Amino acid sequence: MAAVNLENSPEPSIWETTVEQRLKLMNEALKENEEINSQLPGLRQVLTDSIKSDQNEEFFRNFIKLFDQPELGTYETVMEKFPEPEQKIVLDFVEGTALADLPEIDRVVGVIDLDSASEDNGDIDSHRTRSWLSEPFRDDPFVKDLRQFLTQSGGNNEEVQIHKNETFKNWGNMRNVEYTPSYTCVPSTLRGVQAIVKAAKGQNWGVRCAGYRHSWAPIFGRSETAGQVLVSLLPIKHVTSKVDLTSLGICLPPTNELRKIEVKGEVGELDNGNTLVRVGAGVTNEELRRWCLQNGRVTLPLNVIMVEITVGGANAPICHGAGIENKTLSDLVRKIEYVDCHGQPRTVNDEEELRAAAGCFGLIGVVTHLTLEFKPMSIARMQPEKLPVIRAVPPPDGWLEEDIPIALRLPVTAEQREADIRQFESHCENDYYAEWFWFPYHDQVWVNCWNTIPQVANVQSFPGPYKAAKQIVTQSLLNMLQSTPALKELFRLPKVTGGLITLLSKVAMDSLPNEPIETYLPEALHFQRGIQNLRVLDLEVEIPIPGKKDKPTARDLNVVRKAWWDAIRECYQATENTPQQMPLEMRIMGDSDVIMAPQRGNKLGTCSIEILTLDAARGTWNPYAQRVLNRWMSYTDSNGDLLATRPHWAKQWTEFTVRGELWRKKLRRDYETQIREFRGLLRQIGKRDQWTLADLEQRFSNDLLDHLFFTGRTEEE
Ligand SMILES: Cc1cc2nc3c(=O)[nH]c(=O)nc-3n(C[C@H](O)[C@H](O)[C@H](O)COP(=O)(O)OP(=O)(O)OC[C@H]3O[C@@H](n4cnc5c(N)ncnc54)[C@H](O)[C@@H]3O)c2cc1C
Repeated sequence: MAAVNLENSPEPSIWETTVEQRLKLMNEALKENEEINSQLPGLRQVLTDSIKSDQNEEFFRNFIKLFDQPELGTYETVMEKFPEPEQKIVLDFVEGTALADLPEIDRVVGVIDLDSASEDNGDIDSHRTRSWLSEPFRDDPFVKDLRQFLTQSGGNNEEVQIHKNETFKNWGNMRNVEYTPSYTCVPSTLRGVQAIVKAAKGQNWGVRCAGYRHSWAPIFGRSETAGQVLVSLLPIKHVTSKVDLTSLGICLPPTNELRKIEVKGEVGELDNGNTLVRVGAGVTNEELRRWCLQNGRVTLPLNVIMVEITVGGANAPICHGAGIENKTLSDLVRKIEYVDCHGQPRTVNDEEELRAAAGCFGLIGVVTHLTLEFKPMSIARMQPEKLPVIRAVPPPDGWLEEDIPIALRLPVTAEQREADIRQFESHCENDYYAEWFWFPYHDQVWVNCWNTIPQVANVQSFPGPYKAAKQIVTQSLLNMLQSTPALKELFRLPKVTGGLITLLSKVAMDSLPNEPIETYLPEALHFQRGIQNLRVLDLEVEIPIPGKKDKPTARDLNVVRKAWWDAIRECYQATENTPQQMPLEMRIMGDSDVIMAPQRGNKLGTCSIEILTLDAARGTWNPYAQRVLNRWMSYTDSNGDLLATRPHWAKQWTEFTVRGELWRKKLRRDYETQIREFRGLLRQIGKRDQWTLADLEQRFSNDLLDHLFFTGRTEEE
């Protein structure tokens, strides 16, 4: 049922309407608006087409063409930024070639052989990158030492690429972390890593690592610029390109010793039938996904959704997937190989010590390899659904009709509501994977909850190369468009803002499946491809699921529903400037044994919830995200005690406050016990491996990590 009867309510606020009504109203409003019609003449047609049905390729084509207006001066500029052959894929698609007929995509369909991947050395197009035997590098003390350490140990300068004074920016120009290390080094061997650390030690410089640079939090180098080395596990060109097509198998970074995957021992040889797999820290999730499919017998049981992430980068800040039985990625680490502050290769494989060394934010040193416990390959029986918002996650107990945004109200009987709550709770408590997406101002929620089954015949490839290509093309274009000044201005016009957000949400929702799919587990874990191409901001917290008052061992999932609906309500209260332009996402997961994990101690599980927005909404984002955070931080358990809700270490959190106090200040206190334990175990590892906590602070820390783990603390503590 429509939320508002348009017949009786001649001028409803657009935000009180359903998606379909809103698109119609926008369409009508645009008839009158000469300014917008002349600047975006295709907008009305696209709005009309978007209402019709699920979008086909033609709709996407028109959507992209919408921005091909000479007056905007955007499209060509945007296109020029696509490198070949990616530019050709997009241009051919926009000109009318069906995605399935694009030869460039055909060429890369299927599982590739990792060992034959490109050997492109990834040099960036910059005067700062030259042979490091040439001027100005030759006489630089750091470079001299580096060369000497390499040659002394039988290596050569091919094993480390160096870039001088190359400014580091996280995730392609997000600019919330930016600094200029003296050198950025891209090693391809263990020997190379050792030489870098030894040379840095010679200059008394700090060393920090980067994978795909996808973290928002300041967990890279120090803010002061001079005297630091950045070890990049991937070539700079690869992690700074505007469009990343690795999830199509195009332009994979070169393989090397730090980017290999190998089974250790026999498949299934652990007592529980699991397998140990040694993975280079620079291996990307895309490569791991392909390797698992190629191998066919083993898989990681959980992972970050995004494929453009390195394994070393996901382990350091303790990343996670979903499912009540699943802990974090760092909980799966059985051995860490790292280069210590003296440049020595070391290993940690003691179960207790791994609780500190896995998920230590790079403090222990440069991680070169991780051995992880993989499970037997299984099949995800996905059963995605698109349900009315009010039914997918029923509003929390005690909420009245007027608490629910008008657009989302529906008549639901008490029995129906009870059944919906039971269904929601069953997903949380029993499903292998449990996740919900709500795109701003949409009437439906995408429910992505599923279980696994053993291997079966006729397994589908998912999302499949063509859908993946479509995702990548649209996301890349949207990203370029969101950073185009002329369009930013247009986005601000009230009628257009509402229309475009509604359109974005509709397009995003329509592109998600709602039919059963049986696919290999790694495919289901990485169901979205190419998302890295659309720059977003992201605040995520891990809320402990409390016990019920009358039965403390039973989960009180009302808190989860409250967190979900509080975020939706905030979104509707901010329609004036619509700061949230990307989804609200919620996952249920387990706890963690890793000492610094935000999920640690959550015996009944964790509600992992996040809000995202386009980079274009940066100006209005923080105050809005703060308001949502205020709500998420206000929940209590059945005794009235505040829940120990923690931020995702890698996402946005350092800029926010909790009850008026800077979060970074509060967290130092909140984590006091864990920090003591963490330091104790690191000290124990250091005793064996011949380094001290002071060495770590000097060589591998940064401003934020100093504040949390070192400043004002003593060795004896
Ligand atoms: C679109 C998007 C979706 C995401 N989805 C999820 C999700 O589903 N679940 C989740 O948990 N997170 C998610 N994240 C967060 C992401 O997983 C983390 O930011 C992750 O750290 C990024 O990996 P990276 O390779 O880019 O590492 P980077 O961001 O480059 O590095 C992360 C940290 O690891 C350190 N590091 C990297 N390599 C090494 C090494 N070899 N040795 C020592 N330290 C090292 C770095 O110094 C840094 O502190 C998402 C991020 C984005 C952008």
